[in-house]
Amino acid sequence: MGKNRRFHGPADLHLHSVRSDGTEEPRDVIRAAHDAGMRTVALTDHDTTAGWDEAAEAASERALTFLPGMELSAREGWRSVHMLAYLFDPLDAALTSELARIRGDRIGRAERIVANIGRDYDLTWDDVLAQTSAGATVGRPHIADALVARGIAADRAAAFAGVLHPRESYYESHYAPDPRAAVRLIVAAGGVPIIAHPAPAGRDRMLPVPVIEELLDLGLAGFEIEHRENTEAGKARLRALARRHDLIVTGSSDYHGAGKPNVPGENTTSDEMVARIIERGRGSAPVFGAN
Ligand code: AMP
Ligand code: FE
Ligand code: FE
Ligand code: ZN
Repeated sequence: MGKNRRFHGPADLHLHSVRSDGTEEPRDVIRAAHDAGMRTVALTDHDTTAGWDEAAEAASERALTFLPGMELSAREGWRSVHMLAYLFDPLDAALTSELARIRGDRIGRAERIVANIGRDYDLTWDDVLAQTSAGATVGRPHIADALVARGIAADRAAAFAGVLHPRESYYESHYAPDPRAAVRLIVAAGGVPIIAHPAPAGRDRMLPVPVIEELLDLGLAGFEIEHRENTEAGKARLRALARRHDLIVTGSSDYHGAGKPNVPGENTTSDEMVARIIERGRGSAPVFGAN
């Protein structure tokens, strides 16, 4: 039986742990997805592969299929673009040095945001460190947790709607490659690039189609279409594009533990699409469960 003829079962290919801005350890993320009925999972922490080994082991213990993944930060002008990447080589030199650069810059950026907030509120960098696992990719969610601990915000969502919002004077951005560079890096590392939540609400938030077509020429594999942050109109446009170019389409939860209302399995990816991702990935191997 070819590897693309396996039955993978319900698949959630977008999950976060404390290695970035989720609130649970990688093994607990895998357990939560399994408990929700998933039989195929991917850990996709922001800009890091640090959770792979623990997640793979947890998935293997539960006889789940596991795809190593990541959500790579990119930026096109003012647009933040999140590029999901599956089955790439975690030791690829160009990719690992870019990841180190992004993670490093995220720390300085978070310190600047906290210094800005500290002008008006009682918040220090130590408050943020207290909310951040050692070595984790630091992001605004950790600052949000510190704001909650200080009683300045009720929860992450309130923090993001308030002091962490880019329209506020506290906001700072971090270094991120443009999406063309992101796709090139992932493809060169043997990975499968898929744009995460490509069509969120808000005017012009979706990349212009000519840019998407440039990315397809560079090896972009598809879109995460079933995601709670994509608008219905955006999903329809993405489906049409995907049909026209015969692309991979996925659906996923973007679970962040207690950090977001998203629950594992709220959207899923079909067996056919899981098989296509596995077929295309050549930088690292999936872990196959018993199903
Ligand atoms: P950053 O990359 O540091 O700018 O932070 C963006 C991250 O914050 C994303 O990965 C989201 O997971 C998270 N995020 C964005 N908006 C919210 C929200 N309203 N509630 C909780 N988490 C959020
Ligand atoms: Fe996140
Ligand atoms: Fe994202
Ligand atoms: Zn995500």
